[in-house]
Amino acid sequence: MEFASKCLHGGYEPKNGEPGALPIIQSTTFKYDKTADVAALFDLKAAGFFYSRLANPTVDYVEKKIAALEGGVGAICTSSGQAACFVSLMNLCRAGDHVVACSNLYGGTINLLAVTMKRFGVEITFVDQRLPNSELVKYFRPNTKAVFGETITNPSTDVLDIARIADLAHSQGVPLIVDNTFATPYLCRPIEFGADIVMHSTTKYIDGHALGVGGVIVDSGKFDWAAHKDKFPEFSEPDESYHGCVYTEAFGNAAYIVKARAQLIRDLGCLQSPQNAFYINLGLETLPLRMQQYCKNAQVVAEFLAKHEKVAQVAYPGLPGSHDHELAQKYLPNGCSGVIAFVLKGGREAGVRFIDSLKMISLEVHVADIKSCVLHPASSTHRQLTDEQLAAAGIDAGSIRLSVGLEDVKDTLADLEQALAQA
Ligand SMILES: *Cc1c(COP(=O)(O)O)cnc(C)c1O
Repeated sequence: MEFASKCLHGGYEPKNGEPGALPIIQSTTFKYDKTADVAALFDLKAAGFFYSRLANPTVDYVEKKIAALEGGVGAICTSSGQAACFVSLMNLCRAGDHVVACSNLYGGTINLLAVTMKRFGVEITFVDQRLPNSELVKYFRPNTKAVFGETITNPSTDVLDIARIADLAHSQGVPLIVDNTFATPYLCRPIEFGADIVMHSTTKYIDGHALGVGGVIVDSGKFDWAAHKDKFPEFSEPDESYHGCVYTEAFGNAAYIVKARAQLIRDLGCLQSPQNAFYINLGLETLPLRMQQYCKNAQVVAEFLAKHEKVAQVAYPGLPGSHDHELAQKYLPNGCSGVIAFVLKGGREAGVRFIDSLKMISLEVHVADIKSCVLHPASSTHRQLTDEQLAAAGIDAGSIRLSVGLEDVKDTLADLEQALAQA
């Protein structure tokens, strides 16, 4: 099936007389007749459900759909994007290990990696993704276990050269994990360019209606864990918590995703709820249509901003002359999402006046929402920082992150025009 058809028919395939819409199996437990049936589930020898902390039928259908959309062998829906990021990395790392991550990631991810994972004993080196591989290779250590980057970075909208960074990771015997939140599998499928693991905050475009916080991890099934036994012994050695199961032998190329569920989803308890999985399934059904319109609207808005006298700079990779336009042509041929970063000429004051003057576009700590929303880091997420500290973090005091929604773009332009006049 083509992509749009998979969005509608992937995962849940009702049989004769079954409900047409995805059923919400709101149950923590599943009943069995015999101890042997339950034993087989506990030993990972049979597939099935026994407790919704590990797996649930509604969630499972949505996982199958997203795996199909990304071109992976399996997926896990998590309670948040942060949980997806954490599990995707901790399935590879233990205390004493090291990760190479791009420095322009979402702020929440930077905290998770630099503060919380560091407390768990995992060291992170943040690198400039624009450096050539001959430079980047110097940051790898014998204990490096993964490379992490975002297809389109939040909020700077940089485009990751996935194929080149995948080559780099593979030359060092480690997988590349890509956060594909802003692109969604409609605009880019990182696995086709060599990424090994893909994750999302489904809270953003996939849900698409600002209903539920969630995340997902997708396994490409392409990384050869057995061939890198020395770096990833947990994949090829018996897991005592499952009667000596060896993931690479029992599950072949699905070893990564099965191990993540069996160990981390079991122990951390961060599976998505069936109700939230139902919501993201609704979002997925219209993903292609929505993404096309986000991209169209954002392109118009980016062109408008680029010509505006109050605007110093626009970062939207769909704009000829913007940063990463060439990479966007390779990785994002169908559009660059609805997220635009731009800089007002008047700094912090202008930013505040602009935001306070908006009428339709909402001030929200959210992005990739169905409604247009904005954030001014200098007066919100980064308000403790002085202009000098902001500059050191690569953020201008007049920087605005605009997420263009699905309103008629005429209304979006009119609101921007009148608020810019006040700025
Ligand atoms: C929002 C976001 C996250 C975190 O996801 P939550 O669902 O908020 O936990 C991770 N990565 C990116 C790119 C994001 O935009």
